[in-house]
Amino acid sequence: MSPLLVSADEVAQALPYAECVPLMRAAMIALSEGRTRQLLRGIVDLPKGRAFGVMPGAMLDDGTFGAKLVSVYPDNFARGGRSHQGVVALFDSETGAPSAILEAGEITAIRTAAASAAATDVLARKEARRLAVLGYGEQAWRHIEAIKCVRDLERITVWGRDPEKARAFALRAGAEACARVEEAVAGADMICTVTAAAEPILLSRFVADGTHINAVGSSRAGPAEIDNDLVARARFFADHRDGVLAQGAEFIRARAAGLIGEDHLLGEIGEVMAGRIEGRTSEADVTIYKSLGSIVQDLAAARHIVGKLRGT
Ligand code: NDP
Repeated sequence: MSPLLVSADEVAQALPYAECVPLMRAAMIALSEGRTRQLLRGIVDLPKGRAFGVMPGAMLDDGTFGAKLVSVYPDNFARGGRSHQGVVALFDSETGAPSAILEAGEITAIRTAAASAAATDVLARKEARRLAVLGYGEQAWRHIEAIKCVRDLERITVWGRDPEKARAFALRAGAEACARVEEAVAGADMICTVTAAAEPILLSRFVADGTHINAVGSSRAGPAEIDNDLVARARFFADHRDGVLAQGAEFIRARAAGLIGEDHLLGEIGEVMAGRIEGRTSEADVTIYKSLGSIVQDLAAARHIVGKLRGT
């Protein structure tokens, strides 16, 4: 049988946020319980700050396995294009034959935001209502949509380098555009950092006690969106422990500065979700979910989409 080909539109149709959030929760619990296998993301650096990522993995529960091949072209944003493009390939666990090839840009866009929403649900204060988004690209939009699934939002603020683009985004998203990061995060209960910034944009002194932060924009050792003081101040959780220790730029920088040790990484978000470790311990805690992105998120999403399309 030929592999099923799944377009970006079909992905979007079959993967609403409200379905993807619980899928990501289950995938992260499975990862933390050792019911998945994955290699750390391989990154091939390309000229002009571009990269090619290779992410293989398996879900042991039902034998789903496969890989994501993804190009990251940050310069596409200025041209109105997508920064992440690629394919997720699934294989048949019985025969080993390729069974489906899905467009990866849309899966990445939805699953990343849905995973942040699932993390927000367990780490943000129950009454959190005000969301600040730093960045106005694909992930900014997706995070607003996904976080609406776990909290009622009464105020959304957005900051980005270009005030015009921030205003245009804000209009579209029902948000308020802010000229400075400090303004955008003042009074926020939840902050999503979703930029391609190379150096920290979110500093500890801007952030109030009690805030939850999804640190999403840096998915490799190198660029960092959050300063060392904020990392050191927060209860810090990873999507995948080994990944963040090896490739989580913010954690690596704070550790190299001598502000924290490895034990500052309190655990994986899947452990918090499963109730095995404590997430937030008080209303005053600052919590950070560090998202690098995991192949198990892509596989769980792809499995769900293919199941729907095949009616299984
Ligand atoms: P887009 O290309 O759509 O948007 C990038 C955003 O970053 C834009 O708002 C851009 O605006 C901003 N930006 C670029 N450079 C800087 C800078 N130096 N300082 C501040 N803002 C900057 O990308 P996505 O929304 O798809 O992804 C956002 C980030 O998240 C990327 O870095 C991407 O690699 C990462 N990502 C992480 C995933 C994960 O699983 N953790 C998954 C998918 C993406 P402007 O250039 O106008 O300032």
